[in-house]
Amino acid sequence: MIDRSRSVSVVGGRRSIIALGMIFVALAAVLSLVRVAAGTPFENVLIDLVLIAGPGIVLIYSAYRLPSFDIHAGFYGAIAVWCLSGLGVMLVVLALYSLQPGETIEDPSAVVILTSLASVAGLAAGIHNAAAKTRTRELEQRNRELQDTQSELETTVAQLEEANEQLERSNDRLEHYRAYTAEVLDAIHDVFYVVEEDGRLQRWNESLCEVTGYSDADIASMSAADFFDPDEHDRIADAIAEGFDTGSVQLEADLHTRDGERIPYEFAATALERPDGEPVLAGIGRDLSERKERERELERRARQQQVVADLGQLALETDDLDELMCEASRQVATVLDNEYCKVLDLDEEADELLLRQGVGWRDGLVGEETVSADESDSQAAYTLESDHPIVVADMETETRFSGPALLTDHDVRSGISTIIGPVDDPWGILGTHDTDTARFTDEDVNFVQSVANVLAEAIERRQYQAELEELIADLEESNERLEGFAYAASHDLQEPLRMVSSYLQLIERRYGDELDADGEEFLAYAVDGAERMRDMIDGLLQYSRVETRGNEFEPVSLQRVLEDAGKDLEVKIERADAEITAESLPRVRGDERQLRQVFQNLLANAIEYSGREPPRIRVSAERNGTKCTVSVADDGIGIDPSDQERIFEVFQRLHGREEHAGTGIGLALCERIVERHGGEIWVDSEPGDGSTFSFTLPAADEDSRR
Ligand code: ADP
Repeated sequence: MIDRSRSVSVVGGRRSIIALGMIFVALAAVLSLVRVAAGTPFENVLIDLVLIAGPGIVLIYSAYRLPSFDIHAGFYGAIAVWCLSGLGVMLVVLALYSLQPGETIEDPSAVVILTSLASVAGLAAGIHNAAAKTRTRELEQRNRELQDTQSELETTVAQLEEANEQLERSNDRLEHYRAYTAEVLDAIHDVFYVVEEDGRLQRWNESLCEVTGYSDADIASMSAADFFDPDEHDRIADAIAEGFDTGSVQLEADLHTRDGERIPYEFAATALERPDGEPVLAGIGRDLSERKERERELERRARQQQVVADLGQLALETDDLDELMCEASRQVATVLDNEYCKVLDLDEEADELLLRQGVGWRDGLVGEETVSADESDSQAAYTLESDHPIVVADMETETRFSGPALLTDHDVRSGISTIIGPVDDPWGILGTHDTDTARFTDEDVNFVQSVANVLAEAIERRQYQAELEELIADLEESNERLEGFAYAASHDLQEPLRMVSSYLQLIERRYGDELDADGEEFLAYAVDGAERMRDMIDGLLQYSRVETRGNEFEPVSLQRVLEDAGKDLEVKIERADAEITAESLPRVRGDERQLRQVFQNLLANAIEYSGREPPRIRVSAERNGTKCTVSVADDGIGIDPSDQERIFEVFQRLHGREEHAGTGIGLALCERIVERHGGEIWVDSEPGDGSTFSFTLPAADEDSRR
């Protein structure tokens, strides 16, 4: 089925109606012309024209005006259908009318008039219907919109309710947090505060009241600066301004309590914005008393250690014990902030201690005043009996002793005293005292003990040094005496010996022929004995003159010294068919004549004790830093290890004269010469395996080589 309204709407509702209107107007015109031509009276024609063209114009005009009606454009098609339906219905009515027998509509104008009027009627009905439908449609639309709005409203209401609930919950939480924050702030030991730009305190915790002693009401009427010394007010104001300017500030200052106490505090604050937009500074203040106390304690300990180190250094640098004791007294009193310090020197025989050095005591006492070492009221006497330092916090409550007068006369109330030196053999006492009561720490006591130990060490070193110097002086004296004695003895012995020798020669010359075989033999022994004695006395004389008759040390070529020694022994070397090889020997600092003597003795021994084979002797030298080690090695009979030390002693020999000639002084002389040069001499040997005699000498320095 064809949907008319749809086909009409496709063509365009308004255009269809206009077209219909125009058809009626055209028909009116045509009919009028025809009727005029047919001679129809003009009035009739005019009436027909009006009745046909009028509805046509109404149709056209209505269609033209349709958009200004309250009709939705979608219904224009339907209006056109209504219009055509009116036309159709009229045509059907007329058709039915003309179907009646004898009834016809002769006048076509009537048909057109009726159909045009029916069309207008259809148009009116269509417009009415479309207007109704449009309204209905609008109402439905509005209804839908209202429903949408309602559901939106419902959603919004639900959301608002939820938000409200959340808000209430947040409010509860906020209240809870507020209370909790206040509790936390009150619980912290630090001082909490919120300062306004004018310095007034807006908020604070209980600690501020507890620390300062002010009530909440007091604080409410105070400004931040009121908690500090007036001298500090500018600094406090500057700090607050800085906090607001830069966003944060830190400050150390003494907080004043209501009772006038001053407590060192460190404040740190940050700038914040209050909910109402006002800037504030919120922060905490921390009590620095403990930290300051710890710092002071550490500083004091560091100073004490420094003093001990400095005194130790002074003890090494000075020989003056009194200077050291005076400085020690001064330092101990200063570091412990005590008025007095003293060094007491114990005189065991007199049972008293002399105030040897000290500070703070009345003039004329140092070096003069004595303290009893055994009276029961003396702190010094008590200290001497103790194996640990004695600490007095308050002399008034002290029960162990009450004096001595030196302390009571100076109103001493507290102090530390300790023994200088070993407890079982004390040298004296170091004591420091003050007119106030005191609380000395373990570190203070250790400090005093350390200073006493520095003094003890210095005193001991001084005593030891004095003893050593005395011993050296004694030794030097006895050495000199011995040298003098050896020289004198050997020198003086030469004269009678010469007499014995010359008279023995006289006897031999004058009475030689008259002597029997025994007599000759006895005489030969006597001559031999005298010769031996002369050799020994010569050796002794040489030995005693090593120190006193030596030459100044100078750079010496060992090579040349060895060559000279070889020349001295030329006959002996040739006779024994000895071979001496030497590496290039260095230059040393020494006494050339004495070193030649050393080589002579060692080479002579190497030849003498070579055994059966012709002597093969090697001389070498090695430089070790500032020293040279020279060695003379042979392949001879060797020396038993148990005899290797003894052979360097005067007159010590391992063989009889019949076996090997000699006086037993050669190696002793070598040792003495080497020692004079600051060196050592020793032998490495095994019996039958040769011997290596080595000795050290100072090397000549580089410059002297050129
Ligand atoms: P002497 O005049 O007897 O040689 P020394 O003091 O020179 O006196 O030597 C002491 C002793 O050391 C000698 O009697 C000898 O027994 C031993 N002696 C020294 N040099 C050597 C050596 N090169 N080989 C073995 N023994 C030696």
